[in-house]
Amino acid sequence: DEPLLSIDDLQVHFHTEEGTVEALDGVSLSIGRDEVLGVIGESGCGKSVTALSTMGLLQSPPAEIVGGSITYDGTELLDLTDEELNEIRGDEITMIYQDPMSSLNPVLTIGQQVKEPLLAHRDVTDEAAHERAVEMLESVGLADAERLMTEYPDALSGGMRQRVVIAMALITEPKLLIADEPTTALDVTIQAQIMDLLTDLREEFEMSVLFISHDLAVISEIADRIGVMYAGNVVEQCEMRTLFESPLHPYTRKLAESIPSIEDEDDRLPTIEGTVPELIDPPSGCRFAGRCPQYIGEVCDTVEPPLETPSAIDDGDQKVACHLYDDQREAGPPWPVGDE
Ligand code: SF4
Ligand code: MG
Repeated sequence: DEPLLSIDDLQVHFHTEEGTVEALDGVSLSIGRDEVLGVIGESGCGKSVTALSTMGLLQSPPAEIVGGSITYDGTELLDLTDEELNEIRGDEITMIYQDPMSSLNPVLTIGQQVKEPLLAHRDVTDEAAHERAVEMLESVGLADAERLMTEYPDALSGGMRQRVVIAMALITEPKLLIADEPTTALDVTIQAQIMDLLTDLREEFEMSVLFISHDLAVISEIADRIGVMYAGNVVEQCEMRTLFESPLHPYTRKLAESIPSIEDEDDRLPTIEGTVPELIDPPSGCRFAGRCPQYIGEVCDTVEPPLETPSAIDDGDQKVACHLYDDQREAGPPWPVGDE
């Protein structure tokens, strides 16, 4: 089956006064139809940049897409004009952000805002849009929806606002929802409610979801597959279950070791010695080399490991970018590998 969205070798730079930030260094990810792909990584690893590129929101300076492709439903998104992109964005592909207020306009009523995507993208009357908006507010678990339509965002709690934003994002019945840390700004009880809601809506709307988080516990609740990002690269991609059962990349292993108990509210990213490399003039080999507990020598510093399925792995969907698996590549390592 053709994936709904396929990101291939995406490279994104930001031009800053300090130099060129190589934010994405050849990111490849794919999302099947009705599938939820989780993307995990520390802040600054390129998760949001990947999401924004897919929304076509990084087409102008200081951002520059320097290579790669983003294919959505057979269409190359990077070739579209703004106008063509606008037809898809907010209709077939929608996005929710960490802070609901960044999607809401404080001077418009909830009703005006929830109706807006339908009025913009569909040939509907205001009455029909109103009716559908009320239904959507009910579907996202908001009581007294008719009255809520006349309220302003200020009158709502954070959790209610995020529900409104979800209603706005789903009113056009998108094929792909991009959710960037949608529960991070909420307190834990509300976070759990929003996750339950998204899990239900994902079934009800039969949509694909790109779900971004720094929190493995949250991702594991909803994702079918997961991409692990580190310093602008995808270092491993696999089934959600595989990430816990047989992670391959040293960074993923660290993540999986900290297997979340859902009750544990502490930050779930494990502490790993060292710091993430600067993305201005980044290291030329593996970007994890400076922190890797399984570092194997010069090859790690000099050769960027490709994201591939090692031949010893049956599951063709598990891919890893690490020199530990060089001797398990089809053709064998093309470079000398030090003793392990
Ligand atoms: Fe560690 Fe080397 Fe693998 Fe990078 S390539 S994760 S440094 S073993
Ligand atoms: Mg982010």
